[in-house]
Amino acid sequence: MRLQGKVALVTGAASGMGAATARLFGREGAKEVFVADLLETEGSVVVEEIRKAGGKATFLRLDVTKETDWKAAIDAVEATGPLDVLVNNAGISGSAEQDLYDTDAWNRLMAVNATGVFLGMKHGIALMKKGGRGGSVINLSSISGIVGQGYIHVGYNASKGAVRLITKAGAAQHGPDRIRVNSVHPGLMPPMRTSGRTADPAQRAKTLKGVPLGRAGEVDEVAYAILFLASDESSYVTGAELVVDGGWTAV
Ligand code: NAD
Repeated sequence: MRLQGKVALVTGAASGMGAATARLFGREGAKEVFVADLLETEGSVVVEEIRKAGGKATFLRLDVTKETDWKAAIDAVEATGPLDVLVNNAGISGSAEQDLYDTDAWNRLMAVNATGVFLGMKHGIALMKKGGRGGSVINLSSISGIVGQGYIHVGYNASKGAVRLITKAGAAQHGPDRIRVNSVHPGLMPPMRTSGRTADPAQRAKTLKGVPLGRAGEVDEVAYAILFLASDESSYVTGAELVVDGGWTAV
């Protein structure tokens, strides 16, 4: 069991890669997996799946853009003990926007994808420091935090680029507390709930031509990368960016 005894909180855990990560953490012996999301019904299903498989999980309603929600979520986690693993995964897509310079969309993307991660680090790391036994923070960026795309709102690239650098700042600042901070950069995955053009079969077929492995990734393939960073197997890895994109950005 790779997460034996560890308490983990995963945001955006009602769906997609967050749900896959929460399920995997449950299977790997986490002491408690906090499944945090806006979506209560879907999140409760994930909790039940973890429990049925023999794991321990609790749903937390958390809007990552709201500092009051973060305070309440961290209080709930603290009641079970120190926090060992925080996965800042919640996010929204920029690929449904028609106007790639729409100001409201910019503000929404930055609020969820960048400020949401900032608030998670602010409150999650404070609890890790209080616990005094180190910790691991994993922030979900994207290949869109490394290279640009012509068909996605610029706020998606900007927010994911911010996540990449917040991660490195966190690694620099919290190393002395034995808190590691790393980012994960998925490529072409199953579409997000909020996807537009990236869900379009014609766009996906076009993208696939540039992916050396010749297929889209699966949610568990990202969850296993996150698991490595969450576990003690990655004890000397901090400030790193783990790209999980089938080689898309290698060519
Ligand atoms: P998804 O849409 O399936 O899941 C995202 C989850 O985040 C949902 O459960 C949603 O309810 C939750 N969420 C959205 N706004 C929230 C908020 N304000 N507060 C709390 N929860 C909120 O998406 P996914 O494909 O699983 O993506 C997970 C992460 O990976 C995101 O950060 C995304 O940007 C990133 N990513 C996705 C892809 C992809 O192609 N799917 C590729 C690269 C990176």
